[in-house]
Amino acid sequence: LQLTLAVIKPDAVAHPLIMKALHQRILESNFIIVRRKDLKWRRQDSERFYAEHSGRFFYQRLVEFMSSGPMRAYILAREDAIAHWRELMGPTKVYRARYTSPDTIRAQYGLTDTRNTTHGSDSVESAHREIAFFFPEFQIE
Ligand code: ATP
Ligand code: MG
Repeated sequence: LQLTLAVIKPDAVAHPLIMKALHQRILESNFIIVRRKDLKWRRQDSERFYAEHSGRFFYQRLVEFMSSGPMRAYILAREDAIAHWRELMGPTKVYRARYTSPDTIRAQYGLTDTRNTTHGSDSVESAHREIAFFFPEFQIE
């Protein structure tokens, strides 16, 4: 089994029905929920997590948004968890998602290219790093 980090971003956490739908979607997609945590970032957490994007035109917007309200993080496990979660999320850009993959989470619930509902790790290395970022107490065997 592979682990990935999935995050429900503040735009989606703000809406109880969307939260519920996303939780259901995770269970229906044969993920095992290994850990779950509700948290809120300070601005510096957001800056640190997205350091790789510093300098991009959307960086300030992204950092501001991700520290604007509560989030829910999950450690998910299944075969090919990283790719499966990213497939469920759909393309980063909400309007592209709506056009090309209407069944995906971002197509259905995303608001804008920044406020796009969910995050998912994009590689084994980033999953490792991001799980440690959100769940420092979690030991990966
Ligand atoms: P994530 O890392 O959140 O799972 P991703 O891997 O699909 O998303 P990245 O390129 O890593 O996309 O960008 C990180 C986040 O920055 C995006 O999820 C989105 O919130 C924001 N973002 C990315 N590109 C843009 C853009 N062109 N305009 C506005 N916001 C953007
Ligand atoms: Mg990314």
